[in-house]
Formats: sequence, structure tokens, C-alpha cells
Amino acid sequence: MSIRIGILGYGNLGRGVECAVRQNPDMELSAVFTRRDPAQVSILTKEAAVCRVSEAEKWKGKIDVMILCGGSATDLPQQTPQYARYFNVVDSFDTHARIPEHFANVDQAAKENGTLGIISVGWDPGMFSLNRMYANAILPEGKDYTFWGKGVSQGHSDAIRRIAGVKNAKQYTIPVEHALEAVRAGENPALTTRQKHTRECFVVLEEGADPAKIEEEIKTMPNYFADYDTTVHFISEEELLKNHSGIPHGGFVIRSGKTGWEQENSHVVEYSLKLDSNPEFTASVIAAYARAAYRLSQEGQTGCRTVFDIAPAYLSPKSGEELRKHLL
Ligand code: NDP
Repeated sequence: MSIRIGILGYGNLGRGVECAVRQNPDMELSAVFTRRDPAQVSILTKEAAVCRVSEAEKWKGKIDVMILCGGSATDLPQQTPQYARYFNVVDSFDTHARIPEHFANVDQAAKENGTLGIISVGWDPGMFSLNRMYANAILPEGKDYTFWGKGVSQGHSDAIRRIAGVKNAKQYTIPVEHALEAVRAGENPALTTRQKHTRECFVVLEEGADPAKIEEEIKTMPNYFADYDTTVHFISEEELLKNHSGIPHGGFVIRSGKTGWEQENSHVVEYSLKLDSNPEFTASVIAAYARAAYRLSQEGQTGCRTVFDIAPAYLSPKSGEELRKHLL
């Protein structure tokens, strides 16, 4: 029998999960749950139901893993613990500073109700976290570097769109090439925020807005842009739609370390991602972890986990024997 998947929240990530489930023959999409009117939400899978979120509890026992695809800012802190009371759950919670608190809430709900949850699954947090951890464990004497991009930052694009006079905007985060090269060369540079990334903004103005004033407002925005070298381009709405409508992202996790009695040998470990679609890749990672959540639950395990706690073999549809024969 295939693993019955539910999707709660149908935005970019929800749709990505739907596509990922289709690529995994051991999974099937049972239903999508939304806070909007289900008649207004059209999904791609003909056999799956679209339901109001208030009906979700009635699906207890008919869904093996519920994948929570709401936003990290306000949806997931509430939704993941809530639905862990009825289902095994997986989410992509990415507010790094609040992960310990979120973990505790999901752990309590899951333990009380005999379910299993895996939180903060995706690429960062997610695959990047795993690669940071592996490299740290292997090279205790060393230095970690994470570079993001080139890619769209949804949060920074939103921040620009909130400025009066801005009609639409896209912001790209770009790693500084010579900083990356210095890290790859094993130089262990100490890098400031400004030395690691630049920010490039494509902005569509409202009629009559003052470009100089808006550029200044963007470049001096605290937390978002003030600590970076920022370039602002003003473009037409058509150009934004034509050239900047994708959601690409990616980045690099690098650890450079030393070994040997006198620390005479250097090693550089690098993991990189170049993603055409951030939500579709994130969703693909989630699908693999949904398989792990199902299997762990079948073993009788309960409570909350993160990517650190899941043995790799649980992610793969292949048997242990196949994995040892072909991938080891
Ligand atoms: P979206 O803004 O596209 O969707 C969030 C929610 O908004 C949906 O679940 C949906 O819930 C609701 N929504 C309301 N109106 C609409 C509408 N008209 N169209 C689409 N959705 C609507 O966010 P994303 O899916 O792009 O991202 C979700 C989260 O994934 C992010 O907050 C981020 O934290 C996380 N993420 C994590 C990553 C990682 O590496 N760990 C990487 C990328 C993202 P409903 O159907 O109930 O209305």
C-alpha cells in the first residue's frame, strides 16, 4: 500500500509537494486542506480531494503523513503542533532562532498523541544543516561558511514592496565571488556580512514615485539592506514579469579544516545547490522525509525529530540490500 499524503496549505510549497509526490511511486496524494474556499483552489491531482482545513481532523486514520506547507512566520508555529495531534507531520519551519521552541511544542503534541513529527525540513534548514553537521563532526579543527544565492529572497522582496511608491519588486541575494574563492582556497578568511553577500533589487515604481528617494530608502533599510552593498534597478512591470518571475535559489556550505599532528594538511568540504525552483526542491526534500516519518511511525516511534535524527536509509525507497549493492 502506498503512503497516503495530505497537504495542508496550498501555496508555492504545497504545489511543489504535490509534484514531488507524483515522482515517488510509493506515495499518493489523498487530500489538500486550505483555509480558503476549496472551490477557489484548483490542484493538479485529479484523484485527490480539496477540503476546508476545518475538516482535516475527520481524515485521521486516512492520511499517513500530513505535510504542513504554511508560512513560517505565523502559520507553522500554530499549525504543526495542532495537526501533530492527529497525524504524523512534516514541516519546513525556517525561522532558525525559534526552532528550539517549535521543536518542544511539536514534541509535546506528538508524544501525547502517539504521532511522529519531523520539523525544519528543506535545504536551509535541512540539507545545509546536515552538511554543516557532517563536516563539523569530521573536521573538528576548522571553520564553517554558508553562502546563499544567487537567489530570490522572498522576505527582502516583500520588504521593498512595503515602501510607499513601489508597485512590485524582486530581490536577489548574491555571494561575493572572491570571498567564495578565498574560502575554497583554504585561506580561512574572517568575513563580515558585507564581504560575503551583495543584494540586487529590481523595482517597479508607481506613477510619479521618486526613484532617488526610494533607492535611498532601500539602501538604508536596517537589518535588510543597510549592512550590504545593494544595487537598485528600476524596470517596467513587463520586464519584471518576463525576466524575474521565477523563484530560483541555492548556495554553498563549506568547511575548511586541518588534520595531522602539526595541523599540516588542509581539507575543504563543499556542498552546493543551484535550484531553478526553491519551493519545488524544498518539497522534494520534504517528500523523502515524509517516507521516513511514515516508517518511524510504523516502528512505534513518537515525538519530534529534525534532519539530524533521521538515518539516511529511512529516506530512500530502496531496500537496505539494494542500497548496499548500488550506492555504498
Ligand atoms: P506561500 O506564501 O506561497 O504560501 C503560504 C500559505 O499561504 C499557503 O499555504 C496558503 O495557505 C496561503 N495562501 C493564501 N492565499 C494564497 C494564494 N492566493 N495563493 C497561494 N497561497 C495562498 O509560501 P511558500 O509556499 O512559498 O512557502 C511556505 C514556507 O516554506 C515559507 O514560509 C518558508 O518558511 C518555508 N520554506 C522553507 C525552506 C527550507 O529550506 N526549510 C525553503 C523554502 C521555503 P491556504 O491554502 O491555507 O490559504
